[in-house]
Amino acid sequence: MHTFEFVRPPDSAAAVATAARAKTAQQGADARFIAGGTTLLDLMKLNVETPARLIDINRLALDKIEPTPEGGLTIGATVRNSDLAHHPAVQRDYAALSEAILAGASAQLRNMATTAGNLLQRTRCMYFRDTAMPCNKREPGTGCPAITGSNRTLAVLGTSEQCIATNPSDMCVAMAALEATIHVQGPKGNRAIPIGDFHLLPGSTPDRETVLEPGDLITHVTLPPPVAGSRQLYLKLRDRASYEFALASAAVVMTVAGGKVTRARIALGGVGTKPWRSPEAEAALVGQTANATNFRNAAEAAMRGAKPRSENAFKIELAKRCLAHALQTAATS
Ligand SMILES: Cc1cc2nc3c(=O)[nH]c(=O)nc-3n(C[C@H](O)[C@H](O)[C@H](O)COP(=O)(O)OP(=O)(O)OC[C@H]3O[C@@H](n4cnc5c(N)ncnc54)[C@H](O)[C@@H]3O)c2cc1C
Ligand code: SF4
Repeated sequence: MHTFEFVRPPDSAAAVATAARAKTAQQGADARFIAGGTTLLDLMKLNVETPARLIDINRLALDKIEPTPEGGLTIGATVRNSDLAHHPAVQRDYAALSEAILAGASAQLRNMATTAGNLLQRTRCMYFRDTAMPCNKREPGTGCPAITGSNRTLAVLGTSEQCIATNPSDMCVAMAALEATIHVQGPKGNRAIPIGDFHLLPGSTPDRETVLEPGDLITHVTLPPPVAGSRQLYLKLRDRASYEFALASAAVVMTVAGGKVTRARIALGGVGTKPWRSPEAEAALVGQTANATNFRNAAEAAMRGAKPRSENAFKIELAKRCLAHALQTAATS
């Protein structure tokens, strides 16, 4: 691993000021915040990330889970994934989030991994993690060998001819269905970013993954008040039962009254280049009878724009079955 400077800022303003000196907050950034380190140190050992400066944010006061005045929840940036998943308010009001986090990684990793770090975890595309290979995301303009190469685990929604990498997060999928907001402290002030606007599609700049700018520190995430009577579920399908990323997953937050779906928030994981909220599936479902035919119709709508590559066409049917099953299970729970 290359050499780097390790700094411990006394407060978030100092952390922001130090990070603001970097040229980018994207791939190639020469300054990085470090939280749990479970993504960053991994990539530094592979020489995929080579920051000159690590800014430790673990001692900043960003580790609280608290109610908002409106009845929602504030989740600090350095709240550990385990603490979030096991928090009583999360288990009671945001069950899909708890289930999503517990479906990811391992207990040891979840004890280290943080809320902000999870939002910013990088793709598991094997070419991205191998510096001997070309990769537009790691080195813009070098090409995307995954398009004709090993792409079984890669995305079918939101792809471009420059990159088809999957966003691997489980937590983000539940947060998309729960309509989370990400709060950032930056050199120009604070801002609040709806999760749907936070991650970027690869387009022609796959090295640019989020709207973050140099110096931007995620301070916390907020969840809106829970919807009374909503049924929630996170379902994850993968090659083995634990310690594996999703091939397809679905987060469902649904309200059913008089046998009809009155409200639906749906997001998919494992198939998109970003956590994939599906307004198409939601529109197909709301007002319809809560039954298997309509759940399947919603799943068809969600995957209508999918573009398969040489090895990953199976994901389209898998994702449809995953979503239909999640809706059915949530409706009957
Ligand atoms: C073996 C393995 C298996 C895994 N399996 C899964 C899985 O099944 N599902 C899943 O969802 N995830 C999985 N993960 C990923 C894991 O969830 C992430 O590594 C973790 O959430 C990252 O959090 P962290 O705090 O360790 O981030 P770090 O590694 O500390 O940071 C990650 C990135 O976020 C940036 N960052 C951190 N905090 C902030 C902040 N406050 N503001 C701005 N930038 C910040 C860092 O600079 C860095 O770029 C797995 C990881 C490993 C190693
Ligand atoms: S899919 Fe994206 S991350 Fe993977 S090789 Fe292509 S450009 Fe790189």
